[in-house]
Amino acid sequence: MRSAIILAQIQTLETQVKQDAIVFYAGSEEYKGISKRWSAIGSEDPGVVICPLNAGGVSMTVGFARENNIDLAVQCGRHSTDSSASTDGGILIDMSYMKQVTVNKNTSSIRVQGGALWRDVNEVASQHGLAVVGGTVSQVGVGGLTLRGGNGYLTPEYGLVIDNLLSATVVMPDDTELAVSAHENPDIFWAIRGAGQTVGVVTEFEFKAHPQPDPVWSGIRSHSGESVLSVMCALNSALAHPGGKAAAQAVLALSPDTGSAIVSAGLFFNGPEDAAREHFTQLLEMECLSDDVSMREYADAGSMLDPVVPPGGRKKVLGVQMTLPMRPEFVAFLLETIERQLVSEPDMKQSFLAIDYMDPSSICRVPVEDTAFPSRGDFLNGALILQWNDPEKDKPILSWGEGIQKLCENELRQSGREPTGLVSNFVGYTQDNQTPPVDMFGINAQRLLNIKAKYDPDDLFNKLNPLYEEKG
Ligand SMILES: Cc1cc2nc3c(=O)[nH]c(=O)nc-3n(C[C@H](O)[C@H](O)[C@H](O)COP(=O)(O)OP(=O)(O)OC[C@H]3O[C@@H](n4cnc5c(N)ncnc54)[C@H](O)[C@@H]3O)c2cc1C
Repeated sequence: MRSAIILAQIQTLETQVKQDAIVFYAGSEEYKGISKRWSAIGSEDPGVVICPLNAGGVSMTVGFARENNIDLAVQCGRHSTDSSASTDGGILIDMSYMKQVTVNKNTSSIRVQGGALWRDVNEVASQHGLAVVGGTVSQVGVGGLTLRGGNGYLTPEYGLVIDNLLSATVVMPDDTELAVSAHENPDIFWAIRGAGQTVGVVTEFEFKAHPQPDPVWSGIRSHSGESVLSVMCALNSALAHPGGKAAAQAVLALSPDTGSAIVSAGLFFNGPEDAAREHFTQLLEMECLSDDVSMREYADAGSMLDPVVPPGGRKKVLGVQMTLPMRPEFVAFLLETIERQLVSEPDMKQSFLAIDYMDPSSICRVPVEDTAFPSRGDFLNGALILQWNDPEKDKPILSWGEGIQKLCENELRQSGREPTGLVSNFVGYTQDNQTPPVDMFGINAQRLLNIKAKYDPDDLFNKLNPLYEEKG
């Protein structure tokens, strides 16, 4: 059990990191701002916040926590809704002062410091006519999203975010800085691609940059709840594009204007408008409530969902795995269930279920054993985003959300597949150390355990999914 940090220790640490990090004491305005997360759920009060200015600052802080047996957490974009980036009284490393993004046109790659957000990456990349596979919400952190696998609109074309990671720099539990890639420290490079948080702190990522000279066709098109069956048929028909150029998200929600059920489609096509319109014809021929789809910069497409997930209040993201294709009648049933709940509990009215309509073929092209990320399969990912304010309602709201997860699991079973429970960006993480690693990482579990035993035997990085050897 690691302990909280005491004042004298903070003062010692401050002296040690003087040139390389900024120290924020509990109670200061900066401390309050930095330790405030996207959601109040999973948020704890650290004993001190350390903002490293460079890898040296990270390394000194990690060493100090290890030597003094102090609880340690790391945060980047602050968007996880578990407590994996929080510590109660320990040291919180906040990476937000390390968000530099540097383009290398000669190697078609982009170096990104471990505290950057996707908007930082997209902005710089677009200035050079480039794009990186990243998330669909611009204020999410590069650190957390990448280390859990990561997918976005460019995934059908180029694969997961980790499949586009060329190298990284990692501060390890023994506080050394390691350069990792397919050729240098390949074990650690393997582990950070899917289980990064359990291995160390990534201070820099190097991503493959793809040419993106032209705008993309994207936007949100909303349909009334009554047309859900035809919307889902149209999305099923548009799921796969031979060049992986198309992606969509189906969002089941309440209309902010009328308060009745709507099904919205976030649409994306990496190509010219006529080709995009041809690909999504079936959907575009349907009547809709609103449509702001147009040609825009890739960086702007990466922020179109930001307004529906503003920071603040209580939020919980619950992941679901969906059948591919989805059965429209099941989605209609989900929409009806969600509408009933959100109407009867107005505090939840901004909650929604988003289903990523992203063809997983490119994800499945990489063998599961090639990276620690275990969740490569022919299913769709979804996320139930619960948003509310009243802490008294935590229990019933979370239990309702888990009910939706169960419905989706049953649907998967009825289609002849067992839900895997394996970790991916929204699914499967547990802070309960009773969960056998094989249930989280499947065939990659043993290799990960060996790496953990070798590099982090005292389990300093234990926040996300504590890994332990099964006894007997
Ligand atoms: C609104 C919203 C939209 C999302 N959209 C997508 C999406 O499009 N695609 C997708 O794949 N996922 C998406 N996600 C899921 C997202 O990938 C995870 O929630 C992710 O963990 C968030 O990362 P973060 O850095 O913002 O969060 P944080 O809470 O800061 O960190 C999450 C975890 O990563 C660790 N971590 C962060 N940075 C580092 C680092 N540099 N080194 C070591 N450990 C680090 C933290 O310790 C913590 O365990 C979304 C989530 C939300 C809430």
